[in-house]
Amino acid sequence: MNILKKILLFFIPIKFVLDKYNPIFLYHSLGRASNFNSNIDHVDLETLEKQLRYIQKYWKFVTIDEYIDTKDKKGLTSLTIDDGYKNVIDDAFKVFEKLEIPITIFINSSTFNGKIFWRDKIRYLIQNNMIKEFVKYSKLFKESDVNNFYFISKSTKFNSKQVEIELDEFILRKNIDLNTEHKLCFDNTKYLINHPLINYGNHSANHYFLSSLSKEEQYKDILECKNFFGKF
Ligand SMILES: [Zn+2]
Repeated sequence: MNILKKILLFFIPIKFVLDKYNPIFLYHSLGRASNFNSNIDHVDLETLEKQLRYIQKYWKFVTIDEYIDTKDKKGLTSLTIDDGYKNVIDDAFKVFEKLEIPITIFINSSTFNGKIFWRDKIRYLIQNNMIKEFVKYSKLFKESDVNNFYFISKSTKFNSKQVEIELDEFILRKNIDLNTEHKLCFDNTKYLINHPLINYGNHSANHYFLSSLSKEEQYKDILECKNFFGKF
């Protein structure tokens, strides 16, 4: 490839994005290398800082409220983080502080009662090669669902609440001890920090795949998290 072509390919997409879009960036787990490291939802701190510094060259990070309230969003962006992984506060927050980037963390209130996020239960079964056995046990899934189970398990076809009931039954039956080290999300109100760079938002109580639930179940799950915030 000649050098001119290379330069054009590099600059045109950035210019295109800059002119047309003001993206909102979304992260999940952020932290040091861990056994969660190979997961698509995890970004290590070094990569995070590199990405943020790059983004800051083109956009200014503002809070999600300021972003929504500003009519002309040119040059603005916002950063949100889903699910409330502990490592966001324990490991990654110092990066946001250093770069002075406001963040909004969308939490699932059920994890504060010590409940393990149901997607992490699935990740556990995948990492431990137990999906085949689980599917055999399940009344919801069939054998052909094994291969792409991570994504299939969050399909609209399967009511997440029912999926979690089956997961819990299976975990109990197999005597699997999902203890503190599997509680990766906020399980203590000490993670709700009063800091000018941090805002918190409602990500529902249990993080079920909402379109897989009935309207009533959806309402209940969102309201439960809203009521949790009401306590503070
Ligand atoms: Zn989420």
